[in-house]
Amino acid sequence: MRILIATSFLLLAASCVAPVLHNVPAVGLAPPVASPAADFSLNQKIKYWQKHIPAMTTADRSEAYLLIGELQIEANFANEARISFYQALAGNLSSTEAGRAEKGIGLSYFLSSQPSLGLSHLEKSLSNLDAVSKAEANYLMAAYKGKPVANASAAVAERMNVFLVSANLKAPTIRGSMFAGSINVDISRREWRAATMKSNWDKMTTPFRITVHHTAEPFSSLSKAAACAEVKHIQNQHMNERSPSGWADIGYHFLIDRAGNVIAGRPLNAQGAHASGSNNIGNIGICLLGNFVAQPNRGRSYAVAQAPAAAQLTSLTSLVDRLCINYTIDSTNVYGHKELKSTDCPGPAISRWVANYRRTRP
Ligand SMILES: [Zn+2]
Repeated sequence: MRILIATSFLLLAASCVAPVLHNVPAVGLAPPVASPAADFSLNQKIKYWQKHIPAMTTADRSEAYLLIGELQIEANFANEARISFYQALAGNLSSTEAGRAEKGIGLSYFLSSQPSLGLSHLEKSLSNLDAVSKAEANYLMAAYKGKPVANASAAVAERMNVFLVSANLKAPTIRGSMFAGSINVDISRREWRAATMKSNWDKMTTPFRITVHHTAEPFSSLSKAAACAEVKHIQNQHMNERSPSGWADIGYHFLIDRAGNVIAGRPLNAQGAHASGSNNIGNIGICLLGNFVAQPNRGRSYAVAQAPAAAQLTSLTSLVDRLCINYTIDSTNVYGHKELKSTDCPGPAISRWVANYRRTRP
């Protein structure tokens, strides 16, 4: 019934003829169907296909519904996507396309926090999926069943974790690859021109905790270049000024600038140097750029505590969420530095963020 309503709505909408965009070629006459311009937003792409559907052949129309569904998944429109996939399945699809539509229905249920309804669709899709899509479906099914999964790459985990967050599920353990669920960053080591890591580092054991720091250096610029220079400066301090012979690399695994960019620090397969001695074991270090503690003994520019930027805190929450999911870290194991060592780091504002995170995350 919902499908019928949606179909007639689309037909009605399509009857209000809009001018054809000049830079878009005509579609639907013969396969392959011309695609929307690459720089269109998700919504524009969805509208593009919806507008051209009435002029398409039956086979192209089914494929267009499939594409619309996949775009709607990407745009977080779970219910609309489900309708599109059912519309696609009602027409002529190849077996591979039918597999994609079934998987899409499964994804839409994960996205709308109903993973139990999505499971049978993922199972049904498996025999018709290519290897990568199959790995994605298996990853979600393993998460739902609380079982480990094999053959899931970092990219698969990264793409699927958004569905796990929506479905309130924890990421499955990936057999054979402890660091498979890698974390996307906004600024890479190459971008801040990181010096090459030295050899005096220990292998990271399975991460089970996260510690948040501030740099304790006044820093307020929103510019990417300034943030890169600041991180490079910190790395230089850590590698060349720390006793006895300098650390292997910057001590933290991630840094967050004032604009909220997540910056790659020390690689996650190397134990950090941020929480002193054995406190570094299995401990992911995150450092926010700025001085969040008043340090009048260090001169005027240090005398007043900065507040963390709102964008920094938003990024911190999202980064810690991703890390907790990827490495199955409990929110009670997220700390401010001062909880592990006698220090004022990371200051009262971040300590409040930490307390709030532990209280509000499952
Ligand atoms: Zn610290």
